[in-house]
Amino acid sequence: MTGDGMDEQVGGRSADVMAGGCACGAVRYKVSGSPIFVNNCHCTLCQRQTGSTSVVNAFFESEAVTLTEGTLTEHVVTAGSGGDHAICRCERCGTALWSYYPRLGRLGLGLRVGTLDEPGRLRPDAVIFTADRMPWTALPDDIPHFETTYNPAELLPPERFARLKGMIARRAAGEG
Ligand SMILES: [Zn+2]
Ligand SMILES: [Zn+2]
Repeated sequence: MTGDGMDEQVGGRSADVMAGGCACGAVRYKVSGSPIFVNNCHCTLCQRQTGSTSVVNAFFESEAVTLTEGTLTEHVVTAGSGGDHAICRCERCGTALWSYYPRLGRLGLGLRVGTLDEPGRLRPDAVIFTADRMPWTALPDDIPHFETTYNPAELLPPERFARLKGMIARRAAGEG
């Protein structure tokens, strides 16, 4: 996954290799490169799974993420679109680190941005499912927001959309 240089800046800072981990410290991971897209999702499923207003997920090709310490357990729930949404948690403390979703299978994952050591390095491309949001939450002026989802072909820079399309094509061909 080599970018063309256009995509190496995320939120104005380089995102070469970032590290993160769970709350108890048993799980540590590294993630390399920049995400394909980052969503701040306010849907009711994300509210329930996190117990909070919303989640911030950064989507990467699975090979971008390396578990360097600890053991994960998988907890399967039903995705909003149907199918299995597998949440990978620290075996010891239960912190959710990333998820696999039906659309991308095991080819890509949604990393919980709040588990990064420097979570402020990644900035959402979009705020989604605002129709479901807790009514007191404020929406940012400078990040596009959508009542449900958006068309990634319109929102994402071409290089990042191409990465997404590549994964969807591999998935459609039976991978993952
Ligand atoms: Zn832990
Ligand atoms: Zn959601």
